[in-house]
Amino acid sequence: MPSKHDLSGWLDERAERFIGMSDAIWREPQVALKESAACALQIADLRADGFRIQENVGGLPTAFVAEWGSGGPIIGFLGEYDALPNLSQENGPEQRPIVPQGPGHGCGHNLLGTACLASAVVLKDWLESTGQPGTVRYYGCPAEETITGKVFMARAGVYDDLDAAITWHPNWINSVSKGSSLAVDNLKFRFRGRTAHAAAAPEQGRSALDAVELMNIGVNFMREHVIDPIRIHYVITNGGGAPNVVPDDAEVWYFVRAPRREQVEETTARVRKIAQGATLMTETEVEEIFLCGAYNTINNGYLGDLALAAMRELGPIEFTDEEQAFAARIVEGYPAGTRETGLASSHLPASLLAQPLNGEVHPPSDEGRVMSGSTDVGDVSWITPTTMLGTATWALGIPAHSWGITATGAMSIGHKGMLYAAKAMAIVGYDLLTDPAHLERAKAEFREATNGQPYKTPLPHGLQPVLP
Ligand SMILES: [Zn+2]
Repeated sequence: MPSKHDLSGWLDERAERFIGMSDAIWREPQVALKESAACALQIADLRADGFRIQENVGGLPTAFVAEWGSGGPIIGFLGEYDALPNLSQENGPEQRPIVPQGPGHGCGHNLLGTACLASAVVLKDWLESTGQPGTVRYYGCPAEETITGKVFMARAGVYDDLDAAITWHPNWINSVSKGSSLAVDNLKFRFRGRTAHAAAAPEQGRSALDAVELMNIGVNFMREHVIDPIRIHYVITNGGGAPNVVPDDAEVWYFVRAPRREQVEETTARVRKIAQGATLMTETEVEEIFLCGAYNTINNGYLGDLALAAMRELGPIEFTDEEQAFAARIVEGYPAGTRETGLASSHLPASLLAQPLNGEVHPPSDEGRVMSGSTDVGDVSWITPTTMLGTATWALGIPAHSWGITATGAMSIGHKGMLYAAKAMAIVGYDLLTDPAHLERAKAEFREATNGQPYKTPLPHGLQPVLP
């Protein structure tokens, strides 16, 4: 009977298929909820491999679930494939967009989704060849960058019967996440007033832009009276058309973030009061457009340890001198001090900077910490034990969401990290499928972390996704 040591070789045998898929997604970058090509490509691949496909999950045209097998345990892999605006970049070591201002895979989600799919495929092959009971699922999750996809998919219930969820993210080094992320609300406030000539009849006008500005001032004063890790940021998405017309329509877009979901909800309630206050001051009206909300992440420590053990078993990623030189040239394209700042903020030792690529396996650096960003993996992590690992696919120390990330996403550095992630995740999946004691330990930790509270969607009742 094939063992977990065979999975790694199986992945190498199928490397061309997965590299081809990842490169195809990289060549056709599509931003959140527009990932039609990536979604179609993955569905076609999995359908040809015998997976059952559920499309249009949660009302999102680019969300799907692929499943193979029967009975338990049910192990899910969370894939993503959305790109980012303005990060078009060729796969060379100097900053050079393919399409000026075009989108690009500046967070490596072409690798992310494909590695998760690859893990699901080899585990399916293992289930098929052994006749063991169990179900393996691949979740095609769109719009991670707008913290949307998994939240709407979670509301549709597609994670409810999972025994565990496994995912990863491209990174500087090989490790696992044990920390948390910020819960978030993503919402807009649209004010309506009355137009008038701004010089000839200003007394007739009621400015929606005044309301936006007063709301922002109110929120900025509120900042002093919230706990430290709370983050509130906004952009004005409509401020009127011309100075000589009192604007009757103006809009501001807010993200409200905090370490825990209930703290976000309390803070958003205060922001709503400030919006109401602004209407009183300006004799305008306000409408709220709630786009999405998400939970903080609970990374399962026990599953994290399994993932770390899998990576230690695989050993380091071997990068060649040419790959090191390629990454060194990318690093040169960033201002001096970039890498030092990046490593310090991730609590990683500066000694790692000796080389532009580091393929070794490292213990987690985020245990007990909350990273100042958000991810919709958080919602899944409140439904089922979830682990996220990271592997070396990026020049060490350069910031995510920048051109150098896109650059290594479709060449050997990214490919090696992707296949390595697929192997490690497949081994964790194998462990969970074959030894019920692992799932028991992971679930006991999950029950304690969630305090037995069932997941409740952060979305207001009946909210439909806003599709582009
Ligand atoms: Zn990402």
